[in-house]
Amino acid sequence: MRYSGFQVIKQALSGHKGWTPAWSDPEPQPHYDIIIIGGGGHGLATAYYLAKEFGGKRIAVLEKGWIGGGNVGRNTTIIRSNYLLDGNEPFYEFSLKLWEGLEQNFNYNAMISQRGILNLIHTDAQRDAFIRRGNAMLLNGADAEMLTTAQIKKRYPYLNTEDARFPIKGGLAQHRGGTVRHDAVAWGYARGADSRGVDIIQNCEVTGFKIENGKVLGVETSRGFIGAGKVGCAVAGSSSRLMSKANMRLPMESHVLQAFVSEGLKPVMAGVVTFGAGHFYCSQSDKGGLVFGGDLDGYNSYAQRGNLPVVEDVCEGGMAIFPAFGRARLLRMWGGVMDMSMDGSPIIDKTHIDGLYFNGGWCYGGFKATPASGYCFAHLLAKDAPHPFATDYRFDRFEKGRMIDEKGVGNQPNLH
Ligand SMILES: Cc1cc2nc3c(=O)[nH]c(=O)nc-3n(C[C@H](O)[C@H](O)[C@H](O)COP(=O)(O)OP(=O)(O)OC[C@H]3O[C@@H](n4cnc5c(N)ncnc54)[C@H](O)[C@@H]3O)c2cc1C
Repeated sequence: MRYSGFQVIKQALSGHKGWTPAWSDPEPQPHYDIIIIGGGGHGLATAYYLAKEFGGKRIAVLEKGWIGGGNVGRNTTIIRSNYLLDGNEPFYEFSLKLWEGLEQNFNYNAMISQRGILNLIHTDAQRDAFIRRGNAMLLNGADAEMLTTAQIKKRYPYLNTEDARFPIKGGLAQHRGGTVRHDAVAWGYARGADSRGVDIIQNCEVTGFKIENGKVLGVETSRGFIGAGKVGCAVAGSSSRLMSKANMRLPMESHVLQAFVSEGLKPVMAGVVTFGAGHFYCSQSDKGGLVFGGDLDGYNSYAQRGNLPVVEDVCEGGMAIFPAFGRARLLRMWGGVMDMSMDGSPIIDKTHIDGLYFNGGWCYGGFKATPASGYCFAHLLAKDAPHPFATDYRFDRFEKGRMIDEKGVGNQPNLH
């Protein structure tokens, strides 16, 4: 069924009895050409592009819980391509371009809203760094604009610009950045993949790999053994746990990141604002809640829940820059498990095991990467060669010293 305005009217006239399930619920087959482990944004996008762009045939996505139950449905929904380094910027700009056509492409309303993102500046050194980043973005075909404090005040009059611990000296804006309804991305890709013949199998945890003579032959799951020609792993915060079952130790740590939503307010935030100096960022959902986040919880964990000290820390960061928001009540918060890599950049690569491929290390920036990550991982799985925009996302960069350390903080996963 193709979704359209006409379809909504047609279904309304027939009592909404004609809607069909958005994706099916198949039993696992004994063997697939390609198995993707992880029904998050990246796994589902990979399956979708494999089927749509690379002629993939018998494909399955195996998800241990329900699709969208992981980070793809837990993030703060921000998309952007405001990166500095050559290894990153072309990839993230490719992703933003894919976001721009995505709803038409997979025929699903993901509420993509290019309402703009603004990074605040507080020091001269930060201004220099942001001008450099803005130039790198422009050179790679992205949009970037430096804003003055007066321009920022016009858009966000309630920001604490002068009487603040961190007075605002300007900002770097990317007007094409914005927000996307996060779980609709999982649903849209799932529906698009399912309609092209991909089996999406939920409640199916991968518990091990069958590997013989250096080649992967399939996966052990909670629903029995499933054979595969190739296996792609895209399990985000569970990456190190899953890959340890293939005897691989990854250059990665898992950490908890929390997200917060306030009670619904009238429209007050036009776009996304990030306050790097205090590590706080905020946007407003279409329902009216302020959606915000900040630091990691600060310890290694696989738990999808955070602790209270970080609630206080993040809210303090928010109060420092948006004092007016102190009147709003916090409605709910939740945690996700982040696969933090040693240089803060992802990995999309083959492993040393024939037929076993890996996608992970997205830290807390992988939602915006979802379309490009899926496209590039599908390319790698289909052609056995990296996509031109993902050539630097290799395992061996740590061995060869070609790190992509966007923040320049060294091998400190908790700081990226
Ligand atoms: C609070 C928070 C805020 C964030 N904010 C942003 C943001 O604003 N912008 C941004 O770009 N990024 C953001 N991120 C990061 C982003 O959400 C992640 O980097 C990205 O979603 C990870 O990829 P994914 O969607 O594939 O992960 P997930 O949705 O976590 O998918 C992985 C899936 O693998 C499944 N799985 C795990 N182990 C197994 C197994 N053994 N067998 C089968 N299935 C398995 C899991 O159940 C899960 O569904 C945020 C993350 C969090 C937690």
